Amino acid sequence: MNSSRTCQRCGVRSQREEMFTSLCLDVFLDATVEQLLQDYQQTVPVDYACRCGSNKSIMASTFHTLPQNLILQLKRFKTATMEKRHDAVHLSPELQVPTHLSDRFYRLVSIISHSGTTPDSGHYRSFGLHPDQRGGQRWLCYDDNIVSATRGPDVFRGVQETAYVLFYQKQRTC
Ligand SMILES: [Zn+2]
Repeated sequence: MNSSRTCQRCGVRSQREEMFTSLCLDVFLDATVEQLLQDYQQTVPVDYACRCGSNKSIMASTFHTLPQNLILQLKRFKTATMEKRHDAVHLSPELQVPTHLSDRFYRLVSIISHSGTTPDSGHYRSFGLHPDQRGGQRWLCYDDNIVSATRGPDVFRGVQETAYVLFYQKQRTC
């Protein structure tokens, strides 16, 4: 990611690149993953002591390059209280990352879902696109020692309030 900070008084700008293995996204009710990624890249006010004497700056983080595998963690636990957020996030098989970079089309290939109210209790399940049918609707549900067949649309609907980590694979462009 590219993160840049701009002083609101003198306009001085500093920029740096940061490497991430995954991105942690704030969740809000009835958002799509595209909207969460858009929100992640919003400009936010920060306190920073600039040489001009001002401590009001703004900061923004945008994509510098796009990975082959994009891992998104939804911030379902509030940092201070560890209270769980059950906001529904709309999932769809395809994701178009909001960026000006090219090759920004991804396919959702796996989901980790957490049901329960605290991070150290509850139940984790994972879902994966069936390897026999890339691009199809066949999915698998991994629930402890039981693996069962399911369908993509049912998975997306069923886990919208519990989806915790999303794994996307870059789509080949031809
Ligand atoms: Zn300044």
